[in-house]
Amino acid sequence: MTLFFPSHHRTGSAVTSNVVDMTTSASAANASEGAIRVAAVTDRLVDANEQYAAAFTDPGMDARPVLHVAVVACMDARLDLHAALGLELGDCHTIRNAGGVVTDDVIRSLTISQRKLGTRSIVLIHHTNCGLEQITEDFRTELEDEVGQRPAWAVEAFRDADQDVRQSMQRVRTNPFLLHTDDVRGFVFDVKTGLLREIDPA
Ligand SMILES: [Zn+2]
Repeated sequence: MTLFFPSHHRTGSAVTSNVVDMTTSASAANASEGAIRVAAVTDRLVDANEQYAAAFTDPGMDARPVLHVAVVACMDARLDLHAALGLELGDCHTIRNAGGVVTDDVIRSLTISQRKLGTRSIVLIHHTNCGLEQITEDFRTELEDEVGQRPAWAVEAFRDADQDVRQSMQRVRTNPFLLHTDDVRGFVFDVKTGLLREIDPA
């Protein structure tokens, strides 16, 4: 019984935590606390936002990204795009999804980014140890077996991140809706070293 107390105690402190406690996210997430834990996560974010807003001053920025660049990247939690690329608030558009794949919806965002908000450069970022390498298109069949419906979307799973970056660059460069396809570069981010490795489009 007593073995469970530290876990409960940690959860209790997480509920009332502030921004300083953010580094404890990983250990807190490992505590299997069920629904109570799940609800507490959002409360924690809302609490953090109140502190953020208290110190926030309107920088008076335009919606157009200062660096005229859009970054498409995987949603992976280990990839802190702003820190990894030296980006500041207002610098860029960040478009993220599972895998950092160039889907129709990413094209939608890029098209608006370029045609309505003035971006000219596109940076595509996949990363090592991506979850999309661990699954296959069979995931759609698994879903169909479970819920009786096959999703309309492709999983966009891949075996080789380098090759998928090349394909993503190709999808962007050949898209008719985009105005600027001369500055499109692709990279794989190493989650162990924090380094980007550029992928040759050829
Ligand atoms: Zn990923």
